[in-house]
Amino acid sequence: MNIYQQEQIQALQMVRQHMDLLDTTENIGDFDVRAQTREYLAFRSDAETFFKRWFERTCSKNCYGSRLSACCTKDGILTFWADVVINAGQMEKDELDQLEMTITSPKNEYKCIYLTQKGCAWRIKPIICEMFLCSEAECSVFNANPEAETIRRELEERKKTFTWPDRLVLFEVLEKIFIDAEFDSPLMYMHKSPGLLRLIRQRKSAGR
Ligand code: SF4
Repeated sequence: MNIYQQEQIQALQMVRQHMDLLDTTENIGDFDVRAQTREYLAFRSDAETFFKRWFERTCSKNCYGSRLSACCTKDGILTFWADVVINAGQMEKDELDQLEMTITSPKNEYKCIYLTQKGCAWRIKPIICEMFLCSEAECSVFNANPEAETIRRELEERKKTFTWPDRLVLFEVLEKIFIDAEFDSPLMYMHKSPGLLRLIRQRKSAGR
Protein backbone atom coordinates (compact mmCIF):
# COMPACT_ATOMS: atom_id res chain seq x y z
CA MET A 1 0.00 0.00 0.00
CA ASN A 2 1.20 3.51 -0.74
CA ILE A 3 1.01 6.37 1.77
CA TYR A 4 -2.37 7.54 0.46
CA GLN A 5 -3.87 4.08 0.97
CA GLN A 6 -2.33 3.80 4.44
CA GLU A 7 -3.77 7.16 5.51
CA GLN A 8 -7.20 6.22 4.18
CA ILE A 9 -7.35 2.78 5.77
CA GLN A 10 -6.04 4.00 9.12
CA ALA A 11 -8.62 6.78 9.22
CA LEU A 12 -11.47 4.42 8.34
CA GLN A 13 -10.40 1.83 10.90
CA MET A 14 -10.01 4.41 13.68
CA VAL A 15 -13.44 5.85 12.92
CA ARG A 16 -15.07 2.41 12.78
CA GLN A 17 -13.57 1.33 16.08
CA HIS A 18 -14.65 4.50 17.88
CA MET A 19 -18.02 5.45 16.44
CA ASP A 20 -19.31 5.26 20.02
CA LEU A 21 -17.59 8.63 20.60
CA LEU A 22 -20.30 10.15 18.44
CA ASP A 23 -23.08 8.28 20.18
CA THR A 24 -22.00 9.78 23.48
CA THR A 25 -21.58 13.33 22.11
CA GLU A 26 -24.70 15.38 21.55
CA ASN A 27 -23.72 19.01 22.05
CA ILE A 28 -20.50 20.98 22.04
CA GLY A 29 -21.50 24.28 23.61
CA ASP A 30 -24.49 25.40 21.55
CA PHE A 31 -23.50 23.14 18.70
CA ASP A 32 -25.89 20.19 18.30
CA VAL A 33 -23.81 17.52 16.55
CA ARG A 34 -26.69 15.21 15.66
CA ALA A 35 -28.95 17.98 14.35
CA GLN A 36 -26.08 19.37 12.26
CA THR A 37 -25.32 15.92 10.87
CA ARG A 38 -28.97 15.53 9.85
CA GLU A 39 -28.88 18.94 8.17
CA TYR A 40 -25.69 18.01 6.38
CA LEU A 41 -27.23 14.79 5.05
CA ALA A 42 -30.23 16.78 3.81
CA PHE A 43 -27.83 19.13 2.03
CA ARG A 44 -26.03 16.14 0.48
CA SER A 45 -29.31 14.73 -0.73
CA ASP A 46 -30.15 18.08 -2.38
CA ALA A 47 -26.67 18.24 -3.95
CA GLU A 48 -27.10 14.73 -5.35
CA THR A 49 -30.54 15.59 -6.73
CA PHE A 50 -29.06 18.66 -8.38
CA PHE A 51 -26.31 16.59 -10.00
CA LYS A 52 -28.74 13.96 -11.23
CA ARG A 53 -31.12 16.50 -12.68
CA TRP A 54 -28.62 18.75 -14.44
CA PHE A 55 -25.35 16.90 -14.94
CA GLU A 56 -25.78 13.16 -14.88
CA ARG A 57 -26.59 12.86 -18.58
CA THR A 58 -23.72 15.11 -19.67
CA CYS A 59 -21.16 13.46 -17.36
CA SER A 60 -22.30 9.92 -18.22
CA LYS A 61 -22.06 10.56 -21.94
CA ASN A 62 -18.81 12.53 -21.98
CA CYS A 63 -16.84 10.89 -19.20
CA TYR A 64 -18.15 7.76 -17.49
CA GLY A 65 -19.49 6.14 -20.67
CA SER A 66 -16.14 6.61 -22.37
CA ARG A 67 -14.51 5.21 -19.18
CA LEU A 68 -12.51 8.43 -18.94
CA SER A 69 -13.82 9.14 -15.40
CA ALA A 70 -11.50 12.12 -15.48
CA CYS A 71 -12.58 13.43 -12.07
CA CYS A 72 -11.74 10.21 -10.19
CA THR A 73 -7.97 10.64 -10.41
CA LYS A 74 -5.43 8.40 -8.72
CA ASP A 75 -4.56 9.42 -5.15
CA GLY A 76 -5.69 12.96 -5.92
CA ILE A 77 -8.85 13.08 -3.84
CA LEU A 78 -8.61 14.97 -0.60
CA THR A 79 -10.86 13.29 1.96
CA PHE A 80 -11.64 15.07 5.20
CA TRP A 81 -11.89 13.26 8.52
CA ALA A 82 -15.53 14.31 8.66
CA ASP A 83 -16.14 12.70 5.26
CA VAL A 84 -14.95 9.40 6.72
CA VAL A 85 -17.02 9.77 9.90
CA ILE A 86 -20.23 10.71 8.11
CA ASN A 87 -19.90 8.00 5.48
CA ALA A 88 -19.10 5.32 8.09
CA GLY A 89 -22.23 6.32 9.99
CA GLN A 90 -24.33 5.63 6.88
CA MET A 91 -22.88 2.27 5.81
CA GLU A 92 -23.56 -1.22 7.16
CA LYS A 93 -20.78 -3.32 8.68
CA ASP A 94 -20.36 -5.58 5.63
CA GLU A 95 -20.28 -2.56 3.32
CA LEU A 96 -17.54 -1.01 5.47
CA ASP A 97 -15.60 -4.29 5.40
CA GLN A 98 -15.87 -4.14 1.61
CA LEU A 99 -14.74 -0.51 1.64
CA GLU A 100 -11.61 -1.51 3.55
CA MET A 101 -10.90 -4.16 0.95
CA THR A 102 -11.39 -1.60 -1.81
CA ILE A 103 -8.74 0.60 -0.18
CA THR A 104 -6.20 -2.18 0.25
CA SER A 105 -6.85 -3.84 -3.15
CA PRO A 106 -8.06 -1.19 -5.59
CA LYS A 107 -9.43 -2.44 -8.89
CA ASN A 108 -7.87 0.17 -11.15
CA GLU A 109 -4.25 1.12 -10.66
CA TYR A 110 -4.61 4.35 -12.68
CA LYS A 111 -7.72 5.77 -11.02
CA CYS A 112 -9.00 6.67 -7.57
CA ILE A 113 -8.71 3.70 -5.22
CA TYR A 114 -12.43 4.02 -4.44
CA LEU A 115 -13.58 3.70 -8.05
CA THR A 116 -15.11 0.24 -8.60
CA GLN A 117 -17.01 -1.41 -11.43
CA LYS A 118 -20.20 -0.22 -9.76
CA GLY A 119 -18.95 3.35 -9.35
CA CYS A 120 -17.78 5.07 -6.17
CA ALA A 121 -17.48 2.73 -3.19
CA TRP A 122 -18.60 5.38 -0.68
CA ARG A 123 -22.27 5.75 0.29
CA ILE A 124 -21.76 9.48 1.06
CA LYS A 125 -18.77 10.29 -1.10
CA PRO A 126 -16.19 12.94 -0.11
CA ILE A 127 -17.57 16.48 -0.28
CA ILE A 128 -14.90 17.47 -2.79
CA CYS A 129 -16.19 14.80 -5.18
CA GLU A 130 -19.83 15.74 -4.63
CA MET A 131 -19.20 19.39 -5.47
CA PHE A 132 -16.73 18.92 -8.31
CA LEU A 133 -17.88 19.81 -11.81
CA CYS A 134 -15.38 20.24 -14.63
CA SER A 135 -15.49 23.51 -16.54
CA GLU A 136 -16.63 21.84 -19.78
CA ALA A 137 -19.65 20.30 -18.08
CA GLU A 138 -20.44 23.57 -16.27
CA CYS A 139 -20.25 25.59 -19.50
CA SER A 140 -22.46 23.23 -21.45
CA VAL A 141 -25.15 22.98 -18.73
CA PHE A 142 -25.10 26.55 -17.40
CA ASN A 143 -25.12 28.20 -20.83
CA ALA A 144 -28.30 26.35 -21.69
CA ASN A 145 -29.84 26.52 -18.17
CA PRO A 146 -28.92 29.67 -16.21
CA GLU A 147 -31.29 28.62 -13.41
CA ALA A 148 -29.03 25.63 -12.74
CA GLU A 149 -26.13 28.00 -12.11
CA THR A 150 -28.17 29.86 -9.50
CA ILE A 151 -29.00 26.62 -7.68
CA ARG A 152 -25.36 25.58 -7.86
CA ARG A 153 -24.29 28.86 -6.17
CA GLU A 154 -26.83 28.29 -3.41
CA LEU A 155 -25.46 24.78 -2.85
CA GLU A 156 -21.91 26.16 -2.64
CA GLU A 157 -23.05 28.59 0.06
CA ARG A 158 -24.79 25.80 1.99
CA LYS A 159 -21.66 23.68 1.76
CA LYS A 160 -19.66 26.41 3.49
CA THR A 161 -21.97 26.32 6.50
CA PHE A 162 -20.67 22.80 7.21
CA THR A 163 -17.09 23.02 5.99
CA TRP A 164 -15.79 26.61 6.17
CA PRO A 165 -14.65 27.43 9.71
CA ASP A 166 -15.34 31.17 9.80
CA ARG A 167 -17.97 29.86 12.24
CA LEU A 168 -17.98 26.60 14.22
CA VAL A 169 -18.83 23.99 11.58
CA LEU A 170 -19.62 20.30 11.51
CA PHE A 171 -16.38 19.30 9.77
CA GLU A 172 -14.35 20.99 12.50
CA VAL A 173 -16.45 19.55 15.34
CA LEU A 174 -16.22 15.98 14.05
CA GLU A 175 -12.44 16.29 14.12
CA LYS A 176 -12.44 17.89 17.57
CA ILE A 177 -14.43 15.02 19.09
CA PHE A 178 -11.76 12.53 18.01
CA ILE A 179 -8.80 14.84 18.76
CA ASP A 180 -10.10 15.33 22.31
CA ALA A 181 -10.10 11.53 22.60
CA GLU A 182 -6.42 11.60 21.49
CA PHE A 183 -6.80 10.38 17.92
CA ASP A 184 -4.70 11.84 15.16
CA SER A 185 -4.80 11.58 11.36
CA PRO A 186 -3.39 13.52 8.38
CA LEU A 187 -7.02 13.73 7.22
CA MET A 188 -7.79 16.18 10.05
CA TYR A 189 -7.28 19.13 7.73
CA MET A 190 -9.41 21.48 9.83
CA HIS A 191 -6.76 21.22 12.54
CA LYS A 192 -3.71 20.80 10.29
CA SER A 193 -4.10 22.99 7.20
CA PRO A 194 -2.38 26.36 7.86
CA GLY A 195 -5.08 28.27 5.95
CA LEU A 196 -7.96 26.69 7.85
CA LEU A 197 -6.15 27.05 11.17
CA ARG A 198 -5.64 30.76 10.48
CA LEU A 199 -9.34 31.15 9.83
CA ILE A 200 -10.19 29.38 13.09
CA ARG A 201 -7.74 31.60 15.02
CA GLN A 202 -9.27 34.74 13.48
CA ARG A 203 -12.75 33.53 14.40
CA LYS A 204 -11.75 32.78 17.97
CA SER A 205 -9.97 36.10 18.43
CA ALA A 206 -13.15 37.80 17.18
CA GLY A 207 -15.02 35.88 19.92
CA ARG A 208 -17.06 33.69 17.52
S1 SF4 B 1 -14.00 8.94 -3.89
FE1 SF4 B 1 -15.50 8.17 -5.34
S2 SF4 B 1 -16.28 9.97 -6.46
FE2 SF4 B 1 -14.41 10.56 -5.37
S3 SF4 B 1 -12.80 10.32 -6.89
FE3 SF4 B 1 -12.90 8.40 -5.75
S4 SF4 B 1 -14.31 7.08 -6.90
FE4 SF4 B 1 -14.55 9.17 -7.66
